[in-house]
Amino acid sequence: MSDYDFIVIGAGSTGATLAARLSEHPAARVLLLEAGQNYRSEDTPPEIRDFDFLKTFGHGGLYWPTLYARLNDAQQVAVPYWRGLGVGGSSAVNAGAAVRGLPGDFDAWAEQGRRLRRPMRDIRTTGEN
Ligand SMILES: Cc1cc2nc3c(=O)[nH]c(=O)nc-3n(C[C@H](O)[C@H](O)[C@H](O)COP(=O)(O)OP(=O)(O)OC[C@H]3O[C@@H](n4cnc5c(N)ncnc54)[C@H](O)[C@@H]3O)c2cc1C
Repeated sequence: MSDYDFIVIGAGSTGATLAARLSEHPAARVLLLEAGQNYRSEDTPPEIRDFDFLKTFGHGGLYWPTLYARLNDAQQVAVPYWRGLGVGGSSAVNAGAAVRGLPGDFDAWAEQGRRLRRPMRDIRTTGEN
């Protein structure tokens, strides 16, 4: 382990992207650890290839099997908390629906000093600019 400059835990949406970006530095040694299965593109399970993401539900090995969550303290029964397991993480099993961020969030991050690319800052969902 000491031979690595960076160790990234989880090869999901964030971890895989982060590891890829870090490994762009020619001198950086990056280890990406994933608890679930890895596979080459041509071996991607058919349930993941299918446009209907619901086909991944109940597929052993593609989800963490024992995660449950309550929305609030009053909720009596915990419901399954679906999280992807394997390279690609939840992005391998999600619906691919795009949801725009709230303009106010981007403004607040910019006010806190975050440097955002202009197209992200200029996204407006209501039409006003
Ligand atoms: C069923 C479903 C549908 C969704 N639909 C949409 C959608 O339509 N549009 C949208 O924008 N978002 C959707 N999402 C949400 C989106 O997929 C997630 O918000 C996003 O993928 C989270 O990225 P992440 O990197 O935080 O985590 P993940 O992508 O979940 O990655 C975490 C990774 O870490 C691994 N890991 C965890 N613990 C360990 C450990 N101890 N050791 C090693 N590896 C570990 C996991 O196996 C996993 O691969 C959906 C999510 C689910 C589950």
